[in-house]
Amino acid sequence: MEQELEIKSIKSMKDTPTLEDLPGVGASTVEKLSAAGFGDLMAVAVATPGEIVDATGMTEAVAKKAIHAAREMLDMGFSSGIDVYEKRKNVLHITTGSKELDKLLNGGVETTGITETYGQYGSGKSQIGHVLAVRAQLPPEKGGLGGQVVYIDTESTFRPERIVEIATSLKMDPEEALRNIKIARAYNSDHQMLLAEKVEDLIKKDGLNIKLVIVDSLTSHFRAEYVGRGTLAGRQQKLNKHMHILSKLADMYNLCVYVTNQVMSKPDQFFGDPTEAIGGHIVGHNSQTRIYLRKGKKGTRVAKLVDSPYLPDGECGFMITVGGIEDI
Ligand code: ATP
Ligand code: MG
Repeated sequence: MEQELEIKSIKSMKDTPTLEDLPGVGASTVEKLSAAGFGDLMAVAVATPGEIVDATGMTEAVAKKAIHAAREMLDMGFSSGIDVYEKRKNVLHITTGSKELDKLLNGGVETTGITETYGQYGSGKSQIGHVLAVRAQLPPEKGGLGGQVVYIDTESTFRPERIVEIATSLKMDPEEALRNIKIARAYNSDHQMLLAEKVEDLIKKDGLNIKLVIVDSLTSHFRAEYVGRGTLAGRQQKLNKHMHILSKLADMYNLCVYVTNQVMSKPDQFFGDPTEAIGGHIVGHNSQTRIYLRKGKKGTRVAKLVDSPYLPDGECGFMITVGGIEDI
């Protein structure tokens, strides 16, 4: 009796439930789920029974039960408006150097979520990344977060010389600015996902004060590796998992995540701007703030806020300069 009690109390001491705690899910099923991209309870909770059946071979009834249990365990219920409002008060911003762009973004690029820019080559996506990587280091009274930066570079477009230029014009020590940016080159999409997962170690184990994580570009490896219709579902599932990890980082550590994304042309659209972002609704849903960038007149750039959950849609112009970005 005593022993039984002891076992029970050990069980209840385990703080967070895992995949193993799902009914009808044993070790081999956990392995199958993880291999298919359902590495945690959240992935199961938002999956359809069909996806789980395909991944594990379990019956649909068991899959439904597992999804239901995952939802219960994650307490995916309601929290009061006040709680959410209180949490929103902790949101911080990195200013961009352009007052107009900051205004469009209600103060700058915000913590606790993912900010995505998408647009054609040369529209300024990577430039904004470089600017934020320097400005995130400024103290709060100068519009930064006084923190360090992770730059996940998928296309070898990170340019230290550019960091030096921007830091110098902000009267910062350029070497210090470079030291505060941890750069990792991602060689493929799996490597990219792994790097994103490692950011937590930099914060927890190495004690770094990471306030900005950049993924430039979010989608290029995924796009290159998964070609053809048959592989689209797999690609979207992995991209979804990757973005969940980034969102969680943003939320747990009150940091900014900035990702860049390419566009593809919409062949059926003859009028207007014939482009849309890569990654479809998966990327759209996971990005809290989306900005469409395009080239404007006389070398300017135009930023358009798209589908913000709480800000009015709008547009503004800015310029890319030696010092970063500024108002026109
Ligand atoms: P891609 O899809 O190819 O990655 P991108 O949107 O990331 O494109 P950026 O690299 O951000 O494009 O923008 C490149 C442009 O930024 C250049 O074409 C140039 O106009 C401008 N630019 C870069 N450096 C400077 C600088 N020091 N001063 C002024 N403008 C600059
Ligand atoms: Mg770029």
